[in-house]
Amino acid sequence: MRFECGPEWDTRIINIEPKGKIGILMSGGADSFILYELLKSIPDCPHINIFWVESGGDTGPGWDLVETVELLTGRDDIIPVEKFLKHTENDSPDYLPWNEVLIKSNLWVVEEYKLDILYNGTNMNPPSEFFPEFHSTHFGEAPAGHWHIPKYTKVECPFLHLYKYHIMDLGIKHNVDISQTHSCNEWPTAKGHCGICRTCLEKQWGFTELEDKE
Ligand SMILES: [Zn+2]
Repeated sequence: MRFECGPEWDTRIINIEPKGKIGILMSGGADSFILYELLKSIPDCPHINIFWVESGGDTGPGWDLVETVELLTGRDDIIPVEKFLKHTENDSPDYLPWNEVLIKSNLWVVEEYKLDILYNGTNMNPPSEFFPEFHSTHFGEAPAGHWHIPKYTKVECPFLHLYKYHIMDLGIKHNVDISQTHSCNEWPTAKGHCGICRTCLEKQWGFTELEDKE
């Protein structure tokens, strides 16, 4: 199915065609939840197996909890993937950098569960060549570079070439309520999202880009 998204000045089209035995890797964040809801909206979409993986990397689970994915999806059959998860270098010699954990987790899930397609919501950091605001002190540290993404055969990342404003727009257009999603680089507090870390700011930026330049 064809999905159009983004503001007038940067409209993109993605195609998502689920077939066979499919799964999705979710963290509890907005991107993977929006992708899940898009899949669900596709007529004749096969049953979606849901796998949970932490995306906090070295910082630990933070907001990423399997309970969040249960809450978002209303499902109680989420499959946690913790096989490759090592938080700190103290887990040496088993420690792996986060990008390698993610790549190995994707490949393992496809193999172990004999999937035809595994979806994940990986997407681009906005390039600061186009969006110099990401180099300002407001945003703190410069965006992390993109990790190497291998040529997967059965892993599909429909959002890979999209920026945050495209993804937020897909959520808006398809009535996805992201208020319960968690994506913040700071540890959870009673106040919820910190509102000032890079991840929080990038989401706000996405909405602002959609509103301001229409
Ligand atoms: Zn935050």
